[in-house]
Amino acid sequence: MAGNIKKMKAAAAAVFTAVLTGMLTACGAGGAAKTPAASPAAAKTEAAQTTAAETEAGSASGRRLKIVTGMFPEYDWTREILGDNPGDAELTLLMDSGADLHSYQPTAEDMMRIASCDLFIYTGGVSSQWARDALKGAVNPDMIVIDLLDALGDRAKEETLVEGMQDAHGHEHEGHDHEEDGHEEEELDEHVWLSLRNASFLCGMIEEALEKADPSNKEVYAANTAAYQEKLGELDKQYQEAADAAKVRTLLFGDRFPFLYLAEDYGLSYYAAFSGCSAETEASFETVAFLAAKADEIPVSCVLTIDGSDKRIAETIVRSTKNQDQKILTLNSMQSIAGKQAGEGVTYLSVMEENLPVLREALGS
Ligand SMILES: [Zn+2]
Repeated sequence: MAGNIKKMKAAAAAVFTAVLTGMLTACGAGGAAKTPAASPAAAKTEAAQTTAAETEAGSASGRRLKIVTGMFPEYDWTREILGDNPGDAELTLLMDSGADLHSYQPTAEDMMRIASCDLFIYTGGVSSQWARDALKGAVNPDMIVIDLLDALGDRAKEETLVEGMQDAHGHEHEGHDHEEDGHEEEELDEHVWLSLRNASFLCGMIEEALEKADPSNKEVYAANTAAYQEKLGELDKQYQEAADAAKVRTLLFGDRFPFLYLAEDYGLSYYAAFSGCSAETEASFETVAFLAAKADEIPVSCVLTIDGSDKRIAETIVRSTKNQDQKILTLNSMQSIAGKQAGEGVTYLSVMEENLPVLREALGS
């Protein structure tokens, strides 16, 4: 099923072209709306009816349920909940070229897919303005929308500036609050998927939405979700065990810090060069000096980086410590997993499983 992303894209492109052609025909034909949209639309409905005949899946009109997801985690969760996809739903990953959550901009085709889908799931937060903009053009009045950060409710956490971190304005924080500067804007951390517990909770929300959109397969979705949540819970237990056995309970990132939810799940403290995914890429001398001193003081055997990092800051930190012998390890934050990888067996669970030994090593457990 995962390998279908490309095909889905192609299919959507065909539909898009068909719609455009239809529109052009309608305009050009001087009012006579004759057959324009009829042919491709009818063909599509027919196909959907044959594949979904026994299950009566999809919306009441009998067409395929269209699900659009923003990032890889929500795409993969939905894929798990759909399982064998009894309703033959069409699942789309928007950021399928590996575009980063913080830099993604939808194409015109993406906008069209969002506007007409039945279920739209996106990460939420400051980097998802494109999604809110796209929703203004929504044409499906029955569309179900899940903003994951929003759906978390009280579980959402504010981006936290700990001592030593540079914020988006490029200056370090020394533990004092910034009320006197007049820019104490608390921002919710949008990296909600980097908590197995959030993942389990959010899968419950996606399941509910799917049951509403496709009630005829609700038992299947419920069973798939329960089985998946069990796996998430199992892995969560292993993370907890790693944290319980930790010799060092502090993570030191020579990088950005999207792992707030994960650290807080297991009561780990953390230091990092930047809070969240600050746009800053240059760490100041003070930041590097602070983190190197911390690395010596704790002491840590590893300096962490995230996927896609050039590791320069981490290397500079290591070189600035006394023994200069810390390992540089990478935790995958899944912020730029492409559809291609999703089709080659990479799953949310597989990435979190690969992160576990890295975390163990960092914790000395
Ligand atoms: Zn980020």
